[in-house]
Amino acid sequence: ECRTPPTGPIEMTHCDYEQVETASDDLFANLQELVKTPFFKYFQVDLYRDCPFWEENGACGNRECAITTVDESDVPEKWRAAALSQIEQPPSDKRTRLPGCYYRDSDFCFLDDMTEGEYFDLTQVPERFTGYSGPSAHRVWRTIYEENCFGLSEMNLMKAKSPAPISMADPMTEALHDDGSEPPAQCLEKRVYYKIISGLHASISTHICYDYLNQKTGEWGPNLQCFIERVASHPERLQYIYFDVVLMLRAVARLGPYLDAYDYCSTGTHEEDVETKRLLGNVVDIAKDVGKFDESVLFRGENAKVLKEEFKNHFRNVTRIMDCVECHKCRLWGKVQTTGIATALKILFEMDEKTLDPRANANLLSRSEVVALINTLHRLSESLEVVDIFRTLWNDTSAED
Ligand code: FAD
Repeated sequence: ECRTPPTGPIEMTHCDYEQVETASDDLFANLQELVKTPFFKYFQVDLYRDCPFWEENGACGNRECAITTVDESDVPEKWRAAALSQIEQPPSDKRTRLPGCYYRDSDFCFLDDMTEGEYFDLTQVPERFTGYSGPSAHRVWRTIYEENCFGLSEMNLMKAKSPAPISMADPMTEALHDDGSEPPAQCLEKRVYYKIISGLHASISTHICYDYLNQKTGEWGPNLQCFIERVASHPERLQYIYFDVVLMLRAVARLGPYLDAYDYCSTGTHEEDVETKRLLGNVVDIAKDVGKFDESVLFRGENAKVLKEEFKNHFRNVTRIMDCVECHKCRLWGKVQTTGIATALKILFEMDEKTLDPRANANLLSRSEVVALINTLHRLSESLEVVDIFRTLWNDTSAED
């Protein structure tokens, strides 16, 4: 039994991993059902914006990169553009102060306009191998890692606008030490940024390797070698998936009362809405037990305010960089997940208890943010399940040798 009390895992202990492991199956089972509900499966987004940082080479030509939208008539009426445009929009004055210590321009992400973009049914677009790779994909990842250079923002953006390099410098060689650990004691906030991104990257890689197309045989299936190369041979990457799960769970736990009061009345079927709330309630209960991320230790020093602004700006850039992902299917999941993480960061670092009170702030989060938050947690939680399957595959392979 795990006796050490959880300490707020900015640096996670053995015990923290065990706690996540113990709750992992239950968490996944609830999320798996939740993301199939009408409220959570439709995501509205504009996937056809230009890359703001460099000239794109054009859309990815692979068949697997293509994506279809859903007809608006399939989307519950309440969420269609015509209905949404009638909803009272948030005040246009972005500095309007809402109850609690929170301003509307405190976002960590560039959110698409609520009435723009098309609807996608996320259950119909599995996150898996698409064949998108090479200089374009590498450039996007490298630019995202470079956003970690706090204090050098201007230079980074200038670099990102310059022509594509012929070969890519490995972000790991730049970011990691000889022993494979992270860069030496930079500030905590930079380490947290790196872990968040590396965990997301590892989770995406895990999905790609699990639902992999063998281009020789045309068959789909898990590719153990791919997983070993991209994730398992770098144990810290696996750890950061856990880190992201704990961070997301902490945000969901804090959002519990708000989620409970949220209007999911999306289908007109009372039973379905009750079921959505029940599943969400289960997820929030697990989150309260396992989401022990301690946000209070961040942004505390003398430069806290500046650092937080920089952190926010860098994360906003990450959400904008998604418009540079040339594969539309990858771009969709990139947007969902960076929006989901940005929403979690906003909850953790911008919102106090009063702000989070649903009676004081009924319209605190947009539907896109709530949908992205839960779907991102589901992606990460599924990665942990897949890791287990790869462990078994590995053991089977070792036993055969
Ligand atoms: P990449 O994954 O491109 O990594 C580039 C370099 O980063 C590696 O050489 C390594 O040094 C370093 N690195 C790798 N993992 C980590 C980590 N966890 N932490 C720190 N450093 C790391 N492809 C698909 O097939 N399906 C998708 O759904 C998909 N979604 C994508 C979404 C986004 C936002 C982006 C940017 C790319 C996506 N891709 C997707 C492409 C995919 O992520 C890889 O870029 C591609 O498969 C090529 O992989 P690679 O092995 O060359 O290394």
